[in-house]
Amino acid sequence: MHKILVALATFGLTSGAFAQADTTMMREIYRQSLTKGEAYDDLRYLTKEIGHRIAGSDRAEKAVKWSESLMKTLPFDRVYLQDVTVPYWDRGAPEKAIITENSDTLQVLALGGSVGTPQGGLEAEVLEIEYLSELQNHGEDVHGKIVFVNKPWDESLVETGMAYGLNTAQRSRGPAAVAKFGGVAYLFRSLSSSTRDDFPHTGGTRYVAGIDSIPAMAISVVSAERLHTALQQNPKAKVHLEQHSGWKGPVQTHNVIAERRGTEKPDEIITIGGHIDSWDVGEGAHDNGTGTMGTLDAIRTLMKLGYKPKHTIRLVFYMNEENGVHGATRYGELAAKNKEKIIAAIESDAGGFAPRGFDIKASRESVDWIQATWKPLFEQQYWVSRFLAGSPGVDSGIWAEQFPNTVMFNFRPDPHRYFDLHHTDKDVFEAVDRRELQSGVAAIASLLYLIDSQIDQLPK
Ligand SMILES: [Zn+2]
Repeated sequence: MHKILVALATFGLTSGAFAQADTTMMREIYRQSLTKGEAYDDLRYLTKEIGHRIAGSDRAEKAVKWSESLMKTLPFDRVYLQDVTVPYWDRGAPEKAIITENSDTLQVLALGGSVGTPQGGLEAEVLEIEYLSELQNHGEDVHGKIVFVNKPWDESLVETGMAYGLNTAQRSRGPAAVAKFGGVAYLFRSLSSSTRDDFPHTGGTRYVAGIDSIPAMAISVVSAERLHTALQQNPKAKVHLEQHSGWKGPVQTHNVIAERRGTEKPDEIITIGGHIDSWDVGEGAHDNGTGTMGTLDAIRTLMKLGYKPKHTIRLVFYMNEENGVHGATRYGELAAKNKEKIIAAIESDAGGFAPRGFDIKASRESVDWIQATWKPLFEQQYWVSRFLAGSPGVDSGIWAEQFPNTVMFNFRPDPHRYFDLHHTDKDVFEAVDRRELQSGVAAIASLLYLIDSQIDQLPK
């Protein structure tokens, strides 16, 4: 970094001078990230050399060890692994779903956590509904059937996360709800913003103690439409299902953590990171290779510029966000037990698309202050303008309750394409654009710099 920048970033300044110093610093951050950023190259290794990495798998552990060695190449003061025990869920041999009468093969993926079908599969008539609440009306009719929840994605919503959220409860609660009425399997229309392809989207589901565990699958949107048509022509049409998944846990694995000690307030910690595990399809590129490689590169960008943080910066790659959130739970437990002072957290787990801003969990006064002070630095030159009160990411959200005073930032890239790729075979390295990713790295590095240098000014 230029000497003048070090001076500006290090010494106390009036607010006008601050703004000028911040503008200059951010220009350097963006220049560094866009021209020499390395997140994209790291992402290539993670996705192509390691690939998808469900928690508890050998690949997930390979990602842990590789991340640890990558962090050790940087000037952190400490790099370490934190033990996490996770249940390991294994998909087994590929699933099958076939409409018996016309042998039409439907594209399906077992939902994470699902049990398999009995040996040789199962075959049954299908009851199609849009909402689980309709099961009530069908009563006895559900018995012995495969229940097919065919609720289309709301394409009118620009906030795709909201469209996703509208139906996740039907994914997670479906198997238990169906089993309660005597249904034998659960077929769930994929949560996908892409309504014209045949890729199923997996995702977590769960069972309820005391209610039978029945096999649960996601069916692609296009296959869901074909099944719908087949059922309209013949409501008695049967489907044959085969699935070989099941729980194999528990397995001991790790969160990966690196720390750079603060020069002024080393006991005050800024946590930054995302989850290193992925579902067991595709390459876990946008979910969440970009979040992990991007936050690491954000810190590396500041390091390359010679920036010396006042507070301790702690990079955390959480394990097992996708099927249990055990890594973040463990992180929170240990941080609370050790009475750590975590003043801020940044999480990246919404893809590596062009950055749009951050959702903020903080007091109304703090959010107002950030909108007035930091937002103008981003919005005109860098097209980053969303600074709204909102929820933290899933991982920091899990320990947020134990740390009510931690100001939390949830990175928000452009939302349009994320749920097209999310939890599918399409979420691969090639779906990530280098410039968009590095632009996000720059936005995150800029925010990290602003938090570290000015968080003490935030209204309490
Ligand atoms: Zn994720």
